[in-house]
Amino acid sequence: MTIFYIPTKIIIGRNCIRENADLLPALGTRALIVTGKRSAKTNGAEHDVRQALEERSIPAVIYDHVESNPSTTVAREAAELAREQHADLVIGIGGGSPLDAAKVAAVLATNRIDDETLFSNVFEQKPLPIVAVPTTAGTGSEVTQYAMMTNDKVRSKSFVISDDIIPRIAFLDASYTEHLPLPVTRNTALDALSHAMEGYLSKRATEMSSFIALESIRRLGRCLPMLRSGADLDFTAREQLLTASLLAGIVIAQTGTTALHAMGYSLTYFKKIEHGRANGLLMSVYLQYLLPEHQEEVMTVLGTLRLSGIADLRGLINDLLGNKERITEEEISAFSAIAMKARNIPFTLKSPSQADIEGMFRSSLLH
Ligand code: NAP
Ligand code: FE
Repeated sequence: MTIFYIPTKIIIGRNCIRENADLLPALGTRALIVTGKRSAKTNGAEHDVRQALEERSIPAVIYDHVESNPSTTVAREAAELAREQHADLVIGIGGGSPLDAAKVAAVLATNRIDDETLFSNVFEQKPLPIVAVPTTAGTGSEVTQYAMMTNDKVRSKSFVISDDIIPRIAFLDASYTEHLPLPVTRNTALDALSHAMEGYLSKRATEMSSFIALESIRRLGRCLPMLRSGADLDFTAREQLLTASLLAGIVIAQTGTTALHAMGYSLTYFKKIEHGRANGLLMSVYLQYLLPEHQEEVMTVLGTLRLSGIADLRGLINDLLGNKERITEEEISAFSAIAMKARNIPFTLKSPSQADIEGMFRSSLLH
């Protein structure tokens, strides 16, 4: 049996918000906009959203304090603002961090619940409807049922997972990503690549998810040489990256992620390494781990990326990431124990033991 579910209306193209503003009144009458601190103001996305709302006489308030890898504290502040202002629509603009904070704010605006209840994904009231405007090309959060929150209680990331937080509309205008700094472009592209690759190499993969995963990987394969050289990316290349990230999001919405993401969370939580970079640091050894039993699948991923083998991928990633962070043996044991508890570990094509996870950390990052 195959289930494929993607309820988001996806609108792609330059000026797509302004040209489709008519869709907004059906979703709400007062909006809460959720963004990070700066980029939404400088890349034009916040301006376009405000203008679209204004033209449709929808008043808006803004919560613009979302930092990277947000915790629920931030989402609670945004939800409080939504309640004060009687907002009935949440519009997230930004990378995965503001989009995920917007999703959780939409839940908390209608449900006064503690973190434990939140992470158990049981809400009595429907969350407010969500619109997503991605401004990085990486997380695919604009089409997923996930919101990742930093959770100090488990010293990692916890997910909120609910079909009710899948955005109703995703507006993808690549012009917002045109001035993304090179390191953010590289890191987020590696996040998208890890989504597509993990989805393809997942026990939950289906024919349809794999078909989409390979198309995402193919698009990324075309862009990676440009990212490697540091060349300026034009609008077409930016749109390729944004749609590759979208497709990879559609994939993980069906399959979830796997051990690679589970390992990456500790690098982000304890070492403050950006999410996509964390996945990138571990990507080659992860494929090496899967290779003996799953040679055909791994080689399909590499071939679709236009790479000849794992050594080729390692070279590419070394160029993309520069000097690697290092971790100690003590950190390896601690991080591996945490990774083993992650909910995405069982989806890995070849189930890893703690020793396997330790081995992957060691091969990539030991001092
Ligand atoms: P991010 O944390 O949202 O943003 C990283 C940086 O990029 C911020 O400094 C941000 O600045 C800046 N930025 C964003 N858009 C920009 C633009 N257009 N131009 C210039 N700078 C820009 O990074 P991310 O990698 O997109 O998201 C990571 C988060 O997503 C993590 O919490 C991760 O766990 C989560 N995630 C979620 C899913 C999901 O399905 N929900 C999947 C994968 C990852 P400002 O702060 O000023 O905006
Ligand atoms: Fe991710």
